[in-house]
Amino acid sequence: MAFELKKLPYKLDALVPYISEETLEYHYGKHHQTYVTNLNGLVPGTEFENADLETIIRKAEGGIFNNAAQVWNHTFYFESFTKGGRKEPFGIVADSINASFGSYEAFKEQFNKAAATLFGAGWAWLARKEDGTLQIIQESNAGNPLRKGLKPLLTCDVWEHAYYIDYRNKRPDYVKSFWEILDWDIVAGRY
Ligand code: MN
Repeated sequence: MAFELKKLPYKLDALVPYISEETLEYHYGKHHQTYVTNLNGLVPGTEFENADLETIIRKAEGGIFNNAAQVWNHTFYFESFTKGGRKEPFGIVADSINASFGSYEAFKEQFNKAAATLFGAGWAWLARKEDGTLQIIQESNAGNPLRKGLKPLLTCDVWEHAYYIDYRNKRPDYVKSFWEILDWDIVAGRY
């Protein structure tokens, strides 16, 4: 069965001024779509013919891994956003953040640093370990914490294609906007 590009839960202009319609036209409409198309071209005839995305991410290597992870990562990233959503962690997620990083502010500072210093293309993640503690992870290229047995809670795409139209080379400005649209209700649902 072919993989499909999941529909965005909002319109292309829904995240303005933090992420422009043009960025989403390219990032979702072209980049994300291309990973789906590539994956559908690579999987037939392999052991992953009937596998779901998460199985492929855990087991595959090379092009199949890269494209499968990019499909999953982008869906996860795009589905994190709501303009006017809950802007701070609450409940058990807030407790976990405080226990793991000291405070929400300290967590944000560490996450911003991880996103800003990740060299080249990749993803900054917040993931939950089996013991319930949280960890900030830098992954290059298509990397995904599922491969390390961790549960992803949120991610920031720091490939240049995610921000270059709106922020040019200013990745930290883009990451600042990321917090304006990240919906902690959605993050809590993943915990
Ligand atoms: Mn991307």
